[in-house]
Amino acid sequence: MLRTKVAIIGAGPAGLLVGQLLHTYGVDNVILERHTGEYVLSRIRAGLLEEGTVALLDEVGAGSRAHREGLIHEGIELAFGGSRHRIDLKGATGKTVMIYGQTELTLDLMNARRDAGLVSIYEAADVTPLDFDTDQPRVIYVKDGTTHEIACDFIAGCDGFHGISRASVKPSAIETFERVYPFGWLGILSDTPPVSHELIYSNHARGFALCTMRSTRRSRYYVQCPLDDHIDQWPDDRFWDELKRRLDKEAAGKLVTGPSIEKSIAPLRSFVAEPMRFGRMFLAGDAAHIVPPTGAKGLNLAASDAHYLAQALREYYDEKSSAGIDHYSEKALSRVWKAVRFSWWMTSMLHKFPDTGTFGARIQLAELDYVTHSKAAMTSLAENYVGLPY
Ligand SMILES: Cc1cc2nc3c(=O)[nH]c(=O)nc-3n(C[C@H](O)[C@H](O)[C@H](O)COP(=O)(O)OP(=O)(O)OC[C@H]3O[C@@H](n4cnc5c(N)ncnc54)[C@H](O)[C@@H]3O)c2cc1C
Repeated sequence: MLRTKVAIIGAGPAGLLVGQLLHTYGVDNVILERHTGEYVLSRIRAGLLEEGTVALLDEVGAGSRAHREGLIHEGIELAFGGSRHRIDLKGATGKTVMIYGQTELTLDLMNARRDAGLVSIYEAADVTPLDFDTDQPRVIYVKDGTTHEIACDFIAGCDGFHGISRASVKPSAIETFERVYPFGWLGILSDTPPVSHELIYSNHARGFALCTMRSTRRSRYYVQCPLDDHIDQWPDDRFWDELKRRLDKEAAGKLVTGPSIEKSIAPLRSFVAEPMRFGRMFLAGDAAHIVPPTGAKGLNLAASDAHYLAQALREYYDEKSSAGIDHYSEKALSRVWKAVRFSWWMTSMLHKFPDTGTFGARIQLAELDYVTHSKAAMTSLAENYVGLPY
């Protein structure tokens, strides 16, 4: 039987960051991950980091490549009614955001973990958190056909939306809040230069579109699509045609197209589970909440949860105080709900819903016009977009 202070389930951004922060604070931990490291690194997901997330990477000594290769953005553009309007994030808040792929951040954290000689068990099957309502929690898992057990002080459930941690909590102890959106995002990755230096969020009668990127040579584009569409229905030519139709003339004219190197459809959902602590098990990241990607908040919330949780556990071990762990859920949820609200609001303003109709479309345009012309409204959008303080 292995013994550690904190058993972490999941080697996504939340689990890796909790692990690395705890290591920095002298708290030993073990990570259990269901998949291989290569598989985790192959999932194309988020790509926009708040300054707070970058600061956490720096804190654990894993931020140097992000500073070298990440692209700093000082604004975003909202496109509607045939033209584009810039939100000056830096002017409104003094802060910027960084374009740096989730896969790169994950790789940097995995490398830091390997260099520190910390234990990560990949391809751990049937991971099960047990006895977390007692003082002696355990996690069991199967590796190469043999069942193993880890005894620990705490369990960090960082295993994403479909993980086992939240599912192990008895239903009467948890309350969930959910909104499922009636459309998905069809995304492609292509080795083509981005159409614009900054992100373009487009509200269009045909549906939402987003132009983003991973580097100066790699673009990521999305179009809103029906939930039941399949990627086979979207050959590259159809995707590029549809994207062009949803952009203003100048952007459509400048768009460089090319073969897709990844294509996927993601459903959109807002979801929060309360609380985020169950005895000696804590949830962090997508295990506790999901936001639609419109506000670029999912990965950044995983990072802020990791910060709150690691701080709480540091206090527990260093200062012999339970105050941090007792307030973890309340503290994390306060920031989570604000990001859930912001992501829902951005989604509502920018997408075409089945019941949007002509009245709804006019309201969206009025809101976009207001947001891009009122200093107060622009600042509100900007301060949420760059990330609320921890
Ligand atoms: C298409 C797409 C685009 C996105 N775009 C953005 C964006 O632009 N900006 C943004 O901020 N966010 C975005 N997100 C959200 C972001 O990717 C997630 O919020 C982020 O990955 C959350 O990190 P996590 O560590 O909590 O969960 P995950 O990344 O899901 O990691 C959980 C890990 O736990 C492992 N696991 C699951 N079950 C078990 C088990 N039973 N045992 C052991 N291990 C297990 C999984 O294999 C996984 O490696 C996007 C998501 C998607 C799908």
